[in-house]
Amino acid sequence: MLNYLPQIFLESLEGLKGFDKDAFEKVHQSGQQVTSVRLNPFKINNILAATSIAENVEGKIPWTSNGFYLSQRPSFTLDPVFHSGAYYVQEASSMFLEQALQQCTDLSQPIKVLDLCAAPGGKSTLIQSLINDKSLLVCNEVIKTRVNILAENITKWGAANTIVTNNNPKDFERLPNCFDVIVVDAPCSGSGLFRKDNEAIEEWSLQNVYSCNQRQQRILADILPALKEGGSLIYSTCSYSESENEAIADWLTNEEGMLSTRINIQAEWNIIETQSPKNGAYGYRFYPDKVKGEGFFIAVFTKGEKAIPAWQKSAYKTKSEKLVAKEIDIIRPYLKDSLDFFFIKQKEEVIAIPSHMESELASIQFSLYIKKAGIKMGSIIRNELIPHHELALSTSINASVPSIVVDKVTALQYLRRQEIKVTTDFKGWVLLTYQDLPLGWIKILPNRVNNYYPKDWRIFNK
Ligand code: SAM
Repeated sequence: MLNYLPQIFLESLEGLKGFDKDAFEKVHQSGQQVTSVRLNPFKINNILAATSIAENVEGKIPWTSNGFYLSQRPSFTLDPVFHSGAYYVQEASSMFLEQALQQCTDLSQPIKVLDLCAAPGGKSTLIQSLINDKSLLVCNEVIKTRVNILAENITKWGAANTIVTNNNPKDFERLPNCFDVIVVDAPCSGSGLFRKDNEAIEEWSLQNVYSCNQRQQRILADILPALKEGGSLIYSTCSYSESENEAIADWLTNEEGMLSTRINIQAEWNIIETQSPKNGAYGYRFYPDKVKGEGFFIAVFTKGEKAIPAWQKSAYKTKSEKLVAKEIDIIRPYLKDSLDFFFIKQKEEVIAIPSHMESELASIQFSLYIKKAGIKMGSIIRNELIPHHELALSTSINASVPSIVVDKVTALQYLRRQEIKVTTDFKGWVLLTYQDLPLGWIKILPNRVNNYYPKDWRIFNK
């Protein structure tokens, strides 16, 4: 794809630190594409174990622990390992969020993180890999049609300590002083993705950049009350425009009393550190002629002390029905560390929630619309668990659950929701795995095998 950039766009970047017009135009016209993936450390700990992509690995992304460049873009759709949630295809520059998060907070402590603009879930899955299991991640997406893909990607990642919500930023004012870290990966004019997306070039205008700036301020003003005093705000865009980046940093420090936080970067990464024109707030720019990745901006701020009443641990109880002891006995064997969970029932479906989330879940349930929380275990019918797909992909599933290993051909038939044949003595519900990674459930009957891969997730590629 050869991308010729509008003059008015190029002129608007003149004078920005790190902007080199000739090199920038050249890299956009080169047709060069960068492909990168990030491993799920809870499912796979070695890139070579992801055999489907291992042969394409070109090197490690220097600012993140589990990110790798690939020499070409394979068909991820036809890779069962991808569908197991063992890796996520993510743009390399945006994985720098790892540095921001690590440098602004103590990740060994239990913390509450909100990823406010979360769909489709790239940043959320990265955050999820970095926080500890006593922490909580709330992933929010305001646009209803984008929540499903977010929930799907969170399900595939498999962590239990996550809640997916579908709310306006303003709704979070019902949780004042609640989060230790808020990540705002803001909707923006998208110039940083021009190399990958021709349409974004056509849609770009100065007017749109201005509208984005106004929307970004609104989103930030709405969400800041939910950040704890002393907590960190991580703001990012995939835009090069100063008014969506450094101007927002000036606005945050001027109008909202936020304090700029500097991030350590290594010179060889070629990331450009900028300072906002009025207040000198630090920001980090990624230019594709300097880094192996797309355009990106990120900045970190600390919330100064303000007299907002502290978020109280909730006196509410979760709204859902609890399970009786006999039902809990049926559920427990499916989870490792099952004593670390409590169980609720919603519309006959049992959900396992990490115990440390009980109070937070109650408050969030009271204040926001929850799309998904914890792990859906399934429903209990005639003293048997009819297991849910979320359980299959959960990293908390017990290794003793019956499972069978299949080859790639069978795995793809399964993912297409076709009829499959397996050789095993098991009967009933069995986990289907490919290269040690669970893909979902089958039910083995005397004369056939039922395929329970979710209809909406099935793949259509030949
Ligand atoms: N963080 C995501 C990731 O890494 O996969 C990408 C987020 S994308 C840059 C911005 C998100 O903000 C989109 O999902 C979009 O639907 C959402 N959004 C759009 N308008 C919004 C608004 N007014 N308030 C909050 N989020 C909004």
